[in-house]
Amino acid sequence: MRLLCIADLHSQIDRLSGLEADADLIIVCGDLHNRGSMAEIRPVVEDKRRAVLWAESGASLGGTARSAAQQGWSGIEWGATVPGTIGGAVVGNAGAFGGDMAGSLHMASILQRGNRQVGSNSTAVVATVAVRDLGYSYRSSRLKRERGSAVVLSAEFVLTACPPAEALARIETMNSKRRESQPPGASMGSMFKNPPGDFAGRLIEAAGLKGVCIGGAQVSEMHCNFLINEGGATATQIEELGETIRARVKATSGIELEWEIKRIGIPGGAA
Ligand SMILES: Cc1cc2nc3c(=O)[nH]c(=O)nc-3n(C[C@H](O)[C@H](O)[C@H](O)COP(=O)(O)OP(=O)(O)OC[C@H]3O[C@@H](n4cnc5c(N)ncnc54)[C@H](O)[C@@H]3O)c2cc1C
Repeated sequence: MRLLCIADLHSQIDRLSGLEADADLIIVCGDLHNRGSMAEIRPVVEDKRRAVLWAESGASLGGTARSAAQQGWSGIEWGATVPGTIGGAVVGNAGAFGGDMAGSLHMASILQRGNRQVGSNSTAVVATVAVRDLGYSYRSSRLKRERGSAVVLSAEFVLTACPPAEALARIETMNSKRRESQPPGASMGSMFKNPPGDFAGRLIEAAGLKGVCIGGAQVSEMHCNFLINEGGATATQIEELGETIRARVKATSGIELEWEIKRIGIPGGAA
């Protein structure tokens, strides 16, 4: 593993492009607190009803979406309910309540490793990639499938003007739906992808697994696609419970559930 501590990413591109393709990479942008805004809304000059929202990959998706709504811009309200960063959401095609990155993102700026290309029209190390070039599918993207091929630097969304109260009310409605249907407590969100035309939670409940525990890991009684750490659950117990679920659902419905979360350190665990 390599650790680069870099305040100015652009000046370090030569070092980055020299990395071996399989080297792990963590980029630590120095002095984050003094770098100013992590997200910015720029109204489109020719059309005052539209604006481009630019956000750094490290910005919180939820915070960015809420801030846009507060300023009267609509389009990514769904993001206010999803934990994590803009970069993680771009990579994983995060989504909720009918919205997702594939439908909301306009373009992303990425740092490509060596000569591995993601954008179709660029040979630059830093490239601007249109949403169509990110190969989005349900909770997946080319960046996720081609792990380590690129680092997302920032993302742009095109938003539409709307009264702040309307956008904020949409966020509140989504948040209350979450509170009603998803368990509080320590979880990793949805564990399995919904198979086409069905819901992982419904299949798990139908397989009789509601409330089942392995050690401190429990299938939530409120929403079976959530595994809750009831106290002291180990990663192995979560993994065992997940694999038990997959086996039982396969046996009862014939459907093979696919992990939504990425597991590392286990054979076949990379998403
Ligand atoms: C309670 C709960 C509820 C959730 N609900 C939802 C939901 O409704 N919908 C949904 O989609 N997800 C949901 N999730 C999952 C999670 O919020 C999303 O997957 C989120 O987008 C992950 O973002 P992150 O910043 O935490 O990414 P991480 O988990 O840190 O990273 C995810 C992957 O992206 C890579 N990555 C991250 N940033 C970058 C970057 N800048 N450049 C390149 N690669 C990068 C990482 O290496 C990793 O492979 C939920 C999680 C929890 C805990």
